Amino acid sequence: MQIKRRQFLKMAAAMSAAFGLGGFSAPVAAALKSLDPNKIPRLIYLQGLSCSGCSVSLLQSENPSPLSMITDYSQLLFHGDLSAASGRRALEVIDAFIDGNAGDYFLAIEGAIPEAMPEACMFGEKTFASYIEDAAATMAGVIAIGSCATFGGIPAAEGNLTGAVSLPEFYKKRNLKPLMITIPGCPVHPDWVWHTITHIVKVGIPKLNQYASPEIFFGKKVHETCPRYHDFQEEVLAQKLGDEGCLFKLGCLGPDSFADCPTRWWNGGQTWCIDANAPCIGCTSPIFARKRDFPFYRQNGSS
Ligand code: SF4
Ligand code: SF4
Repeated sequence: MQIKRRQFLKMAAAMSAAFGLGGFSAPVAAALKSLDPNKIPRLIYLQGLSCSGCSVSLLQSENPSPLSMITDYSQLLFHGDLSAASGRRALEVIDAFIDGNAGDYFLAIEGAIPEAMPEACMFGEKTFASYIEDAAATMAGVIAIGSCATFGGIPAAEGNLTGAVSLPEFYKKRNLKPLMITIPGCPVHPDWVWHTITHIVKVGIPKLNQYASPEIFFGKKVHETCPRYHDFQEEVLAQKLGDEGCLFKLGCLGPDSFADCPTRWWNGGQTWCIDANAPCIGCTSPIFARKRDFPFYRQNGSS
């Protein structure tokens, strides 16, 4: 099932207006309007040390639908969960682009890279790490999908045996400097990924913050646009889960997390963490899940 471009634009405009995305809606709408089907980006999507949660989240996209996004707005050459091709046929496609000269493509990487145990992630006879390294010479650019690829995330938590590293760390160690965009989140919001891809193709590389993440999504902290910010200022602080007011004393990490969740919302605009009375767990932050003593919920003042 596909939605027509006009329907999509209408919905995108309505959502943008509803969520106050003024600065972003115009270029994206213009981009989609002029989308040239001959120039849609080709994507090779590889998963390393990941739980596939980001892939699941991408499949929850509503506007556009995931099917539309990987057929109308991008051409998905390979994805471990979605591709019909498997085994040797899948490897032939990956090899033709990464190690061959089959043409322009973007690499999308979900998950961290097992630097100290490369054999933990294999594609046929070759390691995930060597594919990523080789791709630096042939790809148009790489997009880190989710906090594991962006910052190391849960696979790189203190004490991990695989020596998991993020994509930026991996390339930095090898002194490789491919065009790279990072999209953190555990999981990523589907809009953050699909709109970034559209932006790259039709508008150009979006302005990036200090972590190479698009400022249109990660330019402000959750705290700055949180609807409970007034409660924070007035010191109306929830003392336990379920209380009204700012969740700061319950360990809310909105002050440490760059993301537009308060204006974008999740699950097709149904809700988001703080709307559901759950403190922000900092899933887009570099500190997310890195230390042994990083509980999702905590009393403020204790770690
Ligand atoms: S609930 Fe969290 S993000 Fe919102 S104002 Fe309080 S501390 Fe900031
Ligand atoms: S509110 Fe915080 S924990 Fe929730 S999705 Fe956004 S950044 Fe992640």
